[in-house]
Formats: sequence, C-alpha cells, structure tokens
Amino acid sequence: MKAARIGLQGGTFDPVHLGHIRAAVAARRRFRLDRVLLIPSAVPPHKEYADTAPPEHRLRMVKMACRGRTGLEASALEIEAGGTSYSFRTLEEVGRRRPEAVLFFLLGIDAFLEIRTWREYRRVLKQCHFIVTGRPGFDLALAPSALTGETGVRFIELGPEGSVVGPLPDEPSVFLMPLDALDISSTDIRSRVRRGEALAGLVPEPVEKYIKRHGLYRGAGGQ
Ligand code: ATP
Ligand code: MG
Repeated sequence: MKAARIGLQGGTFDPVHLGHIRAAVAARRRFRLDRVLLIPSAVPPHKEYADTAPPEHRLRMVKMACRGRTGLEASALEIEAGGTSYSFRTLEEVGRRRPEAVLFFLLGIDAFLEIRTWREYRRVLKQCHFIVTGRPGFDLALAPSALTGETGVRFIELGPEGSVVGPLPDEPSVFLMPLDALDISSTDIRSRVRRGEALAGLVPEPVEKYIKRHGLYRGAGGQ
C-alpha cells in the first residue's frame, strides 16, 4: 500500500481566506495528498501586532472554510498545545501520530523567504518535504536565495501542470510549485473590515458572516 501523504499548512489564519484555500487545494491535487491540515498557530512567533483574533475564533473560521472541501481539515494541534507555536514541534507531533505518513509542509514564498528566522529551521528542513507556492508580489525563483550558503537542500522546480505521483526523493526536498495565486492577504481583509467594506470573493461566505457576527477586526489597534 502506498504511504499516506499529509500536507500541513501553518499560519495565523487571521482570518483564513480563499488564497489559503486555493494553495491547499492545488497542493493536494498535484501531490495527491490524502489531506491537508490547516493549522492555526496559538501565539504566532512572527506577528508583531498585538491584537491577533483569539485562537478559538481563528480555528472556528478555518473549520468553516474546510467544510465541504474534500481533503481539507482544520487542526487544533497548535492551539491545544498553547504557547508560541513552532513548526519543528508541530512536525514532530504529527510524525508521532502518523509515523507511516509522508509529510509535506505547505507555505507561500513570502513565508519561505523568512525561514532562517524560524526556530531550528535546519532541523525543520530535514523533517519533511516542503511545497513552496507562488504568491503575488513575490518571485518563486528566489526561494533558493533564502538558504544561501546552506548545503544539502535540494530544490525541485515543478512545471505549471502535472502531478507528483511517483516515488519521492529519499532526502527531504523543497518543491517549488507555481500557483495561479489569489492576490489576497489577511492584512488586507482586516483593513477592509475596519473600513466597513464587503469581503465577497475574499473569504468563504460563512467566514464573512462569522466576522460580522463577532465584530472581529473592527478595533483601531490592528494592522
Ligand atoms: P497576514 O497578512 O496577516 O500575514 P496572510 O494572508 O499572509 O496573513 P498567513 O496566515 O500569514 O496569511 O499565511 C499562512 C500561509 O499561507 C503562509 O505560508 C502564506 O505564505 C500562505 N498564503 C497566505 N496568503 C496566500 C495567498 N494569497 N496565496 C498563496 N499562499 C498564501
Ligand atoms: Mg502572512
């Protein structure tokens, strides 16, 4: 039997939007992932603004966004662990729970370019395969420059189509996956909410309703 393939998409998801979903769906299709876990962080290590929406709200919105989307699943792993969320711990934990599975960490090029700021990033790069997707305003081809001077990391550029079905490299590798990415960010969504603008086409409808119902992102302190 073929080993299960699991994608992990980490992030603040403040809030989750259709850009996240598009990347998850595309990665699942191209890598034949059995599922992609969307894992909102508890306290995100990279966020500077203070008023990140409470974890329970972010998790509930991710659950809503996954509903009805085959193979996409919200994971409370980091939120339940609490404290600052670090990817190396998350990968360790998923590896413990699913030792037979092949893991893929899914992230956008904007996040990958910061990888050297991650706690234990060298270890993370050996823990699993990476799928780095394009994102408007960022050049996917710059990915190797994030690791200048690092040896032993293999970058594999994928074409615009086709699936990665066959055997995978033994060594954890970084796959660069072009994506017709949506020009959407949570930062932009938060400022739209503050300006009282609609979110149609940016977030799933139930998420827009949830933001309204709970009065999220209306404060002045956010970004
Ligand atoms: P913020 O503006 O608050 O930073 P964000 O939109 O960048 O929010 P994050 O929660 O920071 O969302 O991102 C989580 C992951 O999703 C990151 O790996 C990021 O690169 C990726 N991602 C976010 N938006 C997109 C998008 N529009 N297309 C592809 N990937 C995205
Ligand atoms: Mg971001």
